Amino acid sequence: MNKPCLFCEIAAGRMEADVLHQDDHVVAFRDIHPQTPTHVLVIPRKHITSMLDIEPVDAELLGHMHVTARDLAKRLGIAESGYRSVFNCGRDGGQTVWHIHLHLLGGRSMGWPPW
Ligand code: IMP
Repeated sequence: MNKPCLFCEIAAGRMEADVLHQDDHVVAFRDIHPQTPTHVLVIPRKHITSMLDIEPVDAELLGHMHVTARDLAKRLGIAESGYRSVFNCGRDGGQTVWHIHLHLLGGRSMGWPPW
C-alpha cells in the first residue's frame, strides 16, 4: 500500500502540526526545520504533487495561497521588513515533499541568488 501523503495527513488533522491558519481551501503551519526565524508552509487541501501539475482551474487556489501568505506575513510581523515566498519544484528546485507548498520565509535578511 502506498504511504499516505504527509501534507494531506496534516491538512486532514491526522498528523500533528503547528497550524497558524486553516480554511476550506488551504492550511498554513510552521515548518518543522525552519530556515529563517519565521518559516511557514501554506498548502492547498487539494493534493497537487508538484508545480508541474497545476492546471488553469487551480489559478484561484494558487492566488489564495499567496494572499494567505501575505496575511500571515502581516500577522507574524515580517511584512514591513520583507519576506520571501517560494515554491520549490522538482529535484533541482529542492523539492522534498510531493504536495505543493508555498514557503513563507522571513525574520532575517536573505541573500540572492539562492544556492
Ligand atoms: P521542500 O524541500 O520545498 O519540498 O520543502 C519541504 C519542507 O517541509 C521542508 O522545509 C521541511 O522542513 C518541511 N517538513 C517536512 N515534514 C514536515 C512536517 O511534518 N511538518 C512541518 N514541516 C515539515
